[in-house]
Amino acid sequence: MSISVGIDLGTTFSAVAYIDPKTKLPQIIPNGEGNKLTPSVIQFLDGDVIFGSEAEDAYNSGEENCVATFKREMGVDKPYCYIDGKPYTSEDLSAMLLKHLREDAEAATGETIKDAVITVPAYFYSKEREATIRAAKAAGLKVKKIIDEPNAAAMAYGLNHWRENANILVYDLGGGTFDVTLVHMGKNGVLSTITTRGNHKLGGRDWDARIEDILVTRFESETELDIRGDRELLSIVSGMSESVKKQLSAQNMQATKVSASFPGYGKVTVTITKAEFEENTADLLDRTGALCLAVLEEAGLTHKDVTDVLLVGGSTRMPQVPAYLQRLFNKRPLSHVNPDEAVALGAAIQSSKENESYAALSVQVVDGKKTTDRTKSGLSSHVSVRAERKLNSLSMLTLRETTAHAMGVVAINDEGNHYYNEIIIPANHPRPVRAAKKFRFYTSPRANNELAIYVLQGDSENPLDCQIPYKYVVNGIKHVNRGEKIGTVIRIQYSYDVNGVIHIQARQEDSTVDLPIRRESVPADISQFGRPVTSENTDQGFKVGLQIGTRSSQSLVHKYKAITFSNVEWVKYDNIPTHPSGAEFNEPTVHVIANEENIEFHGYNISEMNEGVRYTIDPSDDFEIECDINTSTISPHPGGYLEISLGLISAHLTENGGDILLDGACVATVAPRFHLKMSLTNGGQYEVEIDGKAVGSKFKASNSDVDVRFGFVHESHYCHLLSHAYVSDISMMQAVGQEGDDNPDTDTWDD
Ligand code: ADP
Ligand code: MG
Repeated sequence: MSISVGIDLGTTFSAVAYIDPKTKLPQIIPNGEGNKLTPSVIQFLDGDVIFGSEAEDAYNSGEENCVATFKREMGVDKPYCYIDGKPYTSEDLSAMLLKHLREDAEAATGETIKDAVITVPAYFYSKEREATIRAAKAAGLKVKKIIDEPNAAAMAYGLNHWRENANILVYDLGGGTFDVTLVHMGKNGVLSTITTRGNHKLGGRDWDARIEDILVTRFESETELDIRGDRELLSIVSGMSESVKKQLSAQNMQATKVSASFPGYGKVTVTITKAEFEENTADLLDRTGALCLAVLEEAGLTHKDVTDVLLVGGSTRMPQVPAYLQRLFNKRPLSHVNPDEAVALGAAIQSSKENESYAALSVQVVDGKKTTDRTKSGLSSHVSVRAERKLNSLSMLTLRETTAHAMGVVAINDEGNHYYNEIIIPANHPRPVRAAKKFRFYTSPRANNELAIYVLQGDSENPLDCQIPYKYVVNGIKHVNRGEKIGTVIRIQYSYDVNGVIHIQARQEDSTVDLPIRRESVPADISQFGRPVTSENTDQGFKVGLQIGTRSSQSLVHKYKAITFSNVEWVKYDNIPTHPSGAEFNEPTVHVIANEENIEFHGYNISEMNEGVRYTIDPSDDFEIECDINTSTISPHPGGYLEISLGLISAHLTENGGDILLDGACVATVAPRFHLKMSLTNGGQYEVEIDGKAVGSKFKASNSDVDVRFGFVHESHYCHLLSHAYVSDISMMQAVGQEGDDNPDTDTWDD
């Protein structure tokens, strides 16, 4: 037979549990030493790898080649340690520990392990969750699901203490991490997490460090040794600090004597009091309290709405923790669950269940900020809490988890001058969940069309205050060239799966096939996202950033705003059949009317030289211009011609047509009538199309501004017939931040 297990992979201790086939209740599987908890410590000894209390003892006595607390660096690509010159990441070490836990559990139960639910701090980012999943796979485990530690604890608690409509604040202070989660017991045994916060660099170890600090100071003043400056002496003190903490945490303990033996000095004894310990760690407790209040505020509740506070994690055994929480919430915290075991037991409960299906995205905007729409969650402070009962079976309990972190993308604001975090899935949204957005993307016939997406995790508006797990590069985008239609639509689907892991998918237009996506590590220097957007913000020579409808260049999403010339009134000439003789300087005004404020008009009167339209663009702006041209009636003006330019592209057209030049070289010779499309994209890619056919392109990065000009130039004013060039149906499109009427939301799709 094979079994499913729940594994609490802790920073300091780990535990494995399963559903006992006889009692049908969750139960801890003892390890090879017969203990319920296995220290998360590994000792490397003469080519052997040692786990359990032996490794822990070796670690505490300061032996080398021991590693502990490696979970704190889960998801970090750099090695956590080197053993005999060999690098080990936190993921490698976790895989070794998980393999050991698996083997012990298989030996204890005599069963093979089919699959496992593994717990992680609610605050773990996608990268840390993915690393946990990879570590489990490397350990020979099939991961059924990753669940959040506080939720697992709440499940273990809820099984025996179900109270409909209760709001339970789960306070989980472990060895290395702190998580606080508000869970709601709803109808039909549905346990929903509402909001969660945490600090994955705050835990029992920080209390140990404060004890160490007090002890070092005291020993130094007793002995006049420089303990802080001596690694060996310091490790003697740090090795004892955790047990001193535990002694001070024992009931009725007001002070404890601590003895140490320092080489070259001998034995020395000092005293440390509970009051001192509490005073020196009060700020750490305050930090946890602030997060508790933040969680309530985010849920729109006050401390009065908290039905109970549930203590989880070994560090809640310090008596100042429940005392502090009692002051904060005005009620005695519950210690109904064994804080060391609850997480593994809850994971075991989940291991007997099927995974959930995707929830529909529900976002509301409060004070201009996207948050989770919780109107349907049943969370209300006015509904009375039902009496406590035991759920008769595990099947009556269902867990609905939420995402601790909002998911967003690096975007450029509407004004195009700074980067911000455009939130797509708000924090505390039920997971799994997905959302799809569509973008207009400008493709180039020659370039490899790629779209880069910087995904963010976090609520902060500043991308640099968020975690940027990866840079995703969508490739294989087909070039689209359809005359009147500019660019192609790319649909991007963002999801949090059941495990809280991020996925990005992309499809082009109405295709039902996902485009290939490459995941790259985030460039070392991303400080540009904290600076104003300038043309210097480049990534391999191109401007980066994007995305929810932003302008930008290579690999970026494009949206265009039309610069309207549709009402250019040059056609007025048509109404005057002949030029009044002798009235060369008295011709009708040429009306060039356009909607854009910053277009310059030159020469409102045909008698002036060089009338036309000029528009100055930034060389890094993407730009497209299309128009129909007819120069057939220029001839009455001797020497008159139509001048067209867009940076490198220029044309000098007479009544017979003329040459289209690209950087001075002729790419096409045209007749008087033709359709012209010119573009400047990808931060310097010039392209020319005549009558729908690409005739030339050239890349030239330039820092100087680019003039767009349609000018009518007269060599001589002396003519008797009216003349002009028709430039009609001009559409000028510039990549911009936002297209007001364009809703970026689109339908999601299944994998
Ligand atoms: P994690 O989940 O991070 O592995 P645990 O929930 O197992 O952590 O808690 C381990 C932490 O609890 C350690 O910092 C340990 O020192 C602390 N701890 C365990 N028992 C006690 C105790 N009796 N008094 C004070 N702290 C304790
Ligand atoms: Mg724990």
